[in-house]
Amino acid sequence: MKKIVVNGANGKMGKRVVDLILNKSNTKLVGVCDKKGLGKKINSGDLIIKDNLAQILAEKDIDLVIDFTTPDSVMDNIKIVLDKNTNMIVGTTGITDKNLTEIRKIIGKNKMIIAPNFAIGAVLMMEFSKKAAKYMDDVEIIELHHDKKIDSPSGTSIRTAELINENFTKNADDKKNYIESLSGARGAQKNGVNIHSIRLKGLVAHQEVIFGAEGQSLSIKHDSYDRSSFMPGVAMAIDKIDQVSNLVYGLENIL
Ligand code: NAP
Repeated sequence: MKKIVVNGANGKMGKRVVDLILNKSNTKLVGVCDKKGLGKKINSGDLIIKDNLAQILAEKDIDLVIDFTTPDSVMDNIKIVLDKNTNMIVGTTGITDKNLTEIRKIIGKNKMIIAPNFAIGAVLMMEFSKKAAKYMDDVEIIELHHDKKIDSPSGTSIRTAELINENFTKNADDKKNYIESLSGARGAQKNGVNIHSIRLKGLVAHQEVIFGAEGQSLSIKHDSYDRSSFMPGVAMAIDKIDQVSNLVYGLENIL
């Protein structure tokens, strides 16, 4: 039985992860942490939400922390967990290349899975995009999320651009000749791939990768209509974390 703490347990994703762990046969929820909802009872009063992750980890025997918090707090959370030599699954977005380098330096013998997107369909969308990048001339990404998402562009779009870049032959410099009469009109760039971010009420998490070539285009699109779409990926990460060595970045690496 894996003993798990959920950090960000009162958030939109955290609540789903709490339900997943309570209903999964090989997991036990032993702690819930969040800045909001302090004192709130979880699982008919067995557990209450506390806001001090380090203290929760010090008080209990814990196998794994799952973090769905905020981009500005996630690195501090990671350091707290690694300091206690505990394994970690991170779904919080906003983790940069610099952050990953730092994590690799401090991870020691601990195991960590960081995935910008836990939806299996989204991971396939990224993999298909990587494949298409070999054959198509150009590409842009449109990512769409609910209006409460703080960071942009999304972690998924950044990861997609990184994967496309591994197979892409087009020179990023080719894109620098455009004139923007309104700044930002062409979106942001990651690895030479333009990314356009849309934030609107009613949306959950969506992304379209549009490839262009002479006389044709190819669209690869994924929609998460509900946060339940992320849970099979989180469950897979829980089941596979003991088999990984150090840091795994991207769910595609454990599929
Ligand atoms: P949310 O509803 O705002 O929940 C985040 C919760 O974490 C909030 O209650 C927040 O409290 C709390 N929090 C912030 N800092 C904390 C800290 N240091 N310690 C403990 N709790 C803290 O956000 P969400 O929609 O659940 O999303 C959470 C993260 O997951 C975001 O980065 C989002 O982009 C990402 N996400 C990832 C995936 C994936 O598949 N990887 C899918 C969906 C979302 P305050 O509001 O007081 O800050």
